[in-house]
Amino acid sequence: MSYAIDLFIDGKRVAGEGETEFICRNPATGEEIGRFREASPDQIEAAIASATRAQKDWAAMPAEDRGRILRKAAEILRSRNDELARIEVQDTGKPIAEANVVDIQTGADAIEHYANLAGSLAGEYQDFGYGFYYTRREPVGVCGGIGAWNYPLQIACWKSAPALAAGNAMIFKPSELTPINAVALAEIYCEAGMPPGVFNVLQGERNPGAALAAHPAVAKVSLTGSAPTGRKVMEAASPRLKEVSLELGGKSPLIIFDDADPEYAARLAMYANFLTQGEICANGTRVFVQADVYDDVLEEIVKRTKTLRVGAPDDPETQIGALISENHLGVVSGFVERAREAGATILCGGHRVDVAGHQGGAFYAPTVIADSTDDMEHVREEIFGPVMTVLKFDTEDEVVARANQSDYGLAGGVVTKDLVRAHRVAASVQTGMFWINTYQAQPMQIPFGGYKQSGIGRENGWDVLDAYTQKKSVFVQMKPEDLPF
Ligand code: NAD
Repeated sequence: MSYAIDLFIDGKRVAGEGETEFICRNPATGEEIGRFREASPDQIEAAIASATRAQKDWAAMPAEDRGRILRKAAEILRSRNDELARIEVQDTGKPIAEANVVDIQTGADAIEHYANLAGSLAGEYQDFGYGFYYTRREPVGVCGGIGAWNYPLQIACWKSAPALAAGNAMIFKPSELTPINAVALAEIYCEAGMPPGVFNVLQGERNPGAALAAHPAVAKVSLTGSAPTGRKVMEAASPRLKEVSLELGGKSPLIIFDDADPEYAARLAMYANFLTQGEICANGTRVFVQADVYDDVLEEIVKRTKTLRVGAPDDPETQIGALISENHLGVVSGFVERAREAGATILCGGHRVDVAGHQGGAFYAPTVIADSTDDMEHVREEIFGPVMTVLKFDTEDEVVARANQSDYGLAGGVVTKDLVRAHRVAASVQTGMFWINTYQAQPMQIPFGGYKQSGIGRENGWDVLDAYTQKKSVFVQMKPEDLPF
């Protein structure tokens, strides 16, 4: 299967005209599924000019009408679920069992959610007798969105839905590794009635992203990616004091107390680590287990992890698909090899897997590591693969202190039957998202984002609408004023 991978500017697909050519590969086979040139500097300018033109009319449209167009787009997206999920599987290597029910659906959920809120974006009012004030929530203008490769379509939807609902235009740049479905989303928006230019797509790697971050006509940029890229985007945006939202990486703690059911705790730890073969920013990769249940929970985790089905992503029975690339497999296995050399014990996994009929596939066995110390590299750094580290602790104070010993602060979780302790721990762990007796739950109403090096700003919830609007205060004098001049 080969896909046409284009840019989308002013309502039309156009081939990239930049210098660098990219080859898009199916990570499960290594086969080429399309190739494209990045956006040229002229095409970047054309996309920004088109968005600047389109944004004015889009913002002037009654918000309920914008909402209606977005709702229609969500409907089309859902009706094309199976086809888009199959593309997402070829682009990312993730299992079809996940893509079918998560990727497209949660993208449509976001569009629907912000479509419904569009008409309720209102300001404040207060009367002082001699006058009154009100606030206007105005769009910020043209926004840039830059995506990671783990949830390509979902990220494009999560960024564009609130931006567009609030009357902005967006230029979205997907990861060069997963370029296909962003253009499908652009076509769906147009089919739903969105005017050309309101949502444009640029392809490429660093160049178009950096150009959006630096360009004077782009008012805001929102990145989902790694912390090093976050720093570069912020630096590029800083000469213009441009607003940035950064959704970055993590090294999240999942804390299991000794009153937890060992089987449930083990299954939750796996869910917190092996979904999308571990390529999820919020994953609870540091699993702290209290000493009394440590052996039982660890045994259950290892026993169950060994039964996970690593296989062809398009097989509905597959639980662990291919990593995003051969290169990334090298990064993941490098972390595990260095963990081994540092003295940690690899209890299962720790090697690549051959899948029949998929010789060039980047498959890696789900891996559980024990006997680690908090200062080891694999305990401190984000691996972004199917690698769980299980650590032992004795007391609540100790585990909270160790959980917080991280430069990251994206997410965390606790498993306990003691609700007072659960809330106390939730209040003490320094992360932007925290789950009690579950993990990964992410309804659109919940603001999501990181503390510390995990990012700036929030996606989802009402908060993201604050990020995509600016407040203007208008004061009205109703009585003649005694002016001093
Ligand atoms: P990455 O930082 O390598 O790339 C992210 C995006 O930035 C890509 O589109 C890339 O082309 C672009 N880019 C690269 N250099 C750039 C530059 N100088 N200026 C502008 N854009 C640039 O990240 P990745 O490998 O695609 O994704 C994995 C990372 O994303 C992990 O750290 C993961 O935790 C994080 N992530 C975070 C969230 C979240 O919501 N917090 C969600 C998914 C992934």
